[in-house]
Parts: sequence; C-alpha cells; structure tokens
Amino acid sequence: MFIKPKKSLGQNFLIDHNVLEQIVDTVEITNKEVLEIGPGSGNLTTFILKKNPKKIYTIEKDDELALLLKDKFSDEIIIINEDVLKISEDKISNEKLTVFGNLPYNISTEILSKWIVNIDKNFWFENLVLMFQKEVAERIIAESNTSKYGRLSILSHWKLNIKKIIDIKPQSFSPRPKIDSTLLLFTPRENFFELKDAKNLEMITRVFFSQRRKMLKKPFNQVFNNAKKVAEKFDIDLNLRPQNLKPEMYFKLVKEYESLRR
Ligand code: SAM
Repeated sequence: MFIKPKKSLGQNFLIDHNVLEQIVDTVEITNKEVLEIGPGSGNLTTFILKKNPKKIYTIEKDDELALLLKDKFSDEIIIINEDVLKISEDKISNEKLTVFGNLPYNISTEILSKWIVNIDKNFWFENLVLMFQKEVAERIIAESNTSKYGRLSILSHWKLNIKKIIDIKPQSFSPRPKIDSTLLLFTPRENFFELKDAKNLEMITRVFFSQRRKMLKKPFNQVFNNAKKVAEKFDIDLNLRPQNLKPEMYFKLVKEYESLRR
C-alpha cells in the first residue's frame, strides 16, 4: 500500500539501514518496554522489534498510517492513534519506558518542552532517543558562553542529561528533508532544581534572552524589584550578558523570584 507522505505531519521516513541500526543500538532495550513516537510506515519499528523488547507502544497521529501499521505488525505492537501533544505519557505503562522518536520537526521542541515541564521526580522514562533538526539539536545541547545557548538549552538541562549520538544526512530519509538531523540521547537528571512553577523559568528566560545582547542590568531590573541585592547574593556581575550565566544560575534566580513573591 503506497501512502503519499504528508508534509503537514513532518513525514520524512528513515530508509538508511545503517542509521536505523545505530538508533536502536543507542541503548539496551531487550526485554524492556519501548515507546515510539510517530512510527510512520514502521521502518524504525521493525528495527526496534529485532531487539526483542518486552512491549512496544507507538503513538501515531495519522489515521492512514495507523491502519497500515495495524496491517503490518498486527498484535506485535500497541498502536495509539492519537496526537502525542495530547497524551499523558506517564499513564501509558507502570514500567519506565525507553522512548524512540524520529520526531516531526515542526513540533519537536513542543514535544520535548511538554515532557520536561510535566516530569516529576518519578521519571516515566529511562531514556529518550530522539531525532531533531541539527540546528535545533545544537541549541538543545549548547553550553553557556556560546552563540547557540539560550532558552531551549536551559530548559533541556533542567531535568535531563544530554548526549549527542550522531548526525544524519538528508539522503537517509525519504522524502529528503532540506536539512541535516541529529540524534540525541536524554537521561533523567537525578537531582534537578525543584521549582514551584515552570512558567516562572519560562518567563525569566524569555525576559533575559529577548535582549540577549544587552547587559544583565536591564532584564534584572525588569524581573526583580531589588535587582542589585539579588545580583550580590549570587555574585553576578550585571555588566555580563544573558549567555554568560550557566543553566544552574537561572534555576537559582527562578527559585529566588519564587521565594520573594511568596
Ligand atoms: N518513525 C518514522 C521513520 O523514522 O521512518 C517516521 C518519522 S516522521 C519524521 C514523523 C512521524 O510522526 C510521522 O509518521 C507523522 O505522521 C507522525 N506525527 C506527526 N505529528 C504527530 C503528532 N502530533 N502525534 C503523533 N504522531 C505525529
């Protein structure tokens, strides 16, 4: 059965067997429960199955592809024909999942952000093996004092350890995307900063990075009534720029903001 790929759903299917092999070799999944986001026509699913996982859950929004998958895999996999942005992944299983996803690029950061914000101390996953546009992956893994460092890097480092696995060329997909891709491995960060509300981190990093070339003085005054005092407490030079502060410092500033507003 031939199904025309839908651009609106970011359908670029992986066809390179070497890459598919490398993806499933990133972590050990034999006898583990796996969740695949956007299985598409099932290319990656086939490689996951070869590793003999205990169970495979898949979430596919496209009704046509969900039918095709049912046909192809029958009861070898569990197909959840839904929008991943509307699902509570923590309710899928009682076991910790290993997640694979050649994510639809138009919503990849939205998916990751949703997960990070909702994670509690009992992580619902053991590993996330996810593919992003290379440019987005670079922003996710960026460290402070670099030009790619920003809101997405800070949010990602909040609860996750991140490792780059491989870059993947457009030729590995059909249809070919215009850009390179990168596979990242995320694992839970045991002791992450507990914030009252992720929205405060979202707000503070938005204020700071919407003027990333300005000195810290300006965003500090916007966020804190007593900016000078807060800067002194954390030994921050207000002549520096937002990209000079490490993620940990942003978490401390959010905690301070939350305690001052109590
Ligand atoms: N995993 C397949 C592969 O590597 O060949 C397909 C990857 S393709 C880049 C992205 C897949 O995600 C498509 O099958 C698409 O239909 C599905 N998708 C797009 N938006 C989705 C959403 N909101 N929820 C669940 N699946 C979605």
